[in-house]
Amino acid sequence: MTTTIPTLQLNDGRTIPQLGFGVFKVDPAETERIVTEALEAGYRHIDTAAIYRNEEGVGRAIAASGIPRDELFITTKLWNDRRGAAETRAAMGESLEKLGLDHVDLYLIHWPAPANGSVVETWETFAELRSEGLTTSIGVSNFDERFLPEVLGTGIVPAIDQIELHPQFQQRAATALAAEHDIKIEAWGPLGQGKVDYSATVIGEIAERLGVSWAQVTLAWHLAAGRIVFPKSNRRERMVENLAAAEVTLSADDIAAIDALDQGAAGRVSADPADAN
Ligand code: NAD
Repeated sequence: MTTTIPTLQLNDGRTIPQLGFGVFKVDPAETERIVTEALEAGYRHIDTAAIYRNEEGVGRAIAASGIPRDELFITTKLWNDRRGAAETRAAMGESLEKLGLDHVDLYLIHWPAPANGSVVETWETFAELRSEGLTTSIGVSNFDERFLPEVLGTGIVPAIDQIELHPQFQQRAATALAAEHDIKIEAWGPLGQGKVDYSATVIGEIAERLGVSWAQVTLAWHLAAGRIVFPKSNRRERMVENLAAAEVTLSADDIAAIDALDQGAAGRVSADPADAN
């Protein structure tokens, strides 16, 4: 059975597959094989970044797949040491060359990196890159409620904000601000990056009752909230399992029970954007 992947409409009119495949910490030497397996499993949305150093492998897998370009959704990200118009343009060109593509579907500023100065000129350049067709949509990553206002102040509204978000770290303030502007949230680390034992929480109980895995319950909870996710796994059986989360339906009570796992900022498992440069 092939899973139908739901899509969402972005505030720029484009559509995005709500469930994709992330390649953070996928070894560059293994990336082509792993992304090929993900495409074979049915994924059509791949999330990479310049700093992952595996854009070439993603590009080779895309080229070898024979899948029509317009059936794929490819995201990459600008690293923190590239700021300002000239650097942003150069970095975008390097990413496209490595990916072997003439455009990406989504280009993100990877982190606010406040120690590196304002992102305004960089963000205005993103809008130019979009007008020029080098990226179809533009967005930001790790811009929580402390950092999103600087971007919004330009009058150019991101389509996406990609932030750490999982049951014990639900980012309610950032999510509320994004919703005011119809910015869709992409949840990175949707499974807690394997650093949280969610099977020992109510998620494990729900999974047992429904006869599915804790990872599928967690992903289904994200999808039900209208978030976009791209869990990472090097293992084919988990790629298939994670994609099948699109078939899992949770009750309102189950969703409320998972919502109650939020610990606010104490639930964060990775870097605080205020410190990450
Ligand atoms: P994740 O929550 O997807 O966790 C990945 C880990 O979960 C795997 O290494 C594996 O150990 C485990 N896992 C995966 N599937 C499983 C399953 N079915 N059952 C049990 N365990 C399973 O974390 P992530 O990879 O950090 O995040 C997903 C993607 O988000 C990344 O690959 C990347 O594309 C993106 N990301 C973005 C940023 C950013 O700063 N913008 C940061 C981190 C990740």
